[in-house]
Amino acid sequence: MPHLRSNKLGLITKGENMEASVDRSGCIGCGLCAEICPEVFKLDEEGLAFAYAKVTPENEDNAIDARDSCPVSVISIDE
Ligand code: SF4
Repeated sequence: MPHLRSNKLGLITKGENMEASVDRSGCIGCGLCAEICPEVFKLDEEGLAFAYAKVTPENEDNAIDARDSCPVSVISIDE
């Protein structure tokens, strides 16, 4: 039986890694994503965010919080 779990969105995931991405053309460099989920997001030398790591079952809730908290909604998380 695979290890199934549901996340905050009610989606059932298999505990697999997901890709996070930032549409940097819209990022305003507020730093919220890196504050909420430093395991996945960082700001670069230009002060814009990027995803430097995969979303894992351990940091998934924080990554989703970061995505939902982005004031300009430029973060995506895909399976
Ligand atoms: S929360 Fe959104 S706007 Fe703020 S740094 Fe992260 S990606 Fe950029």
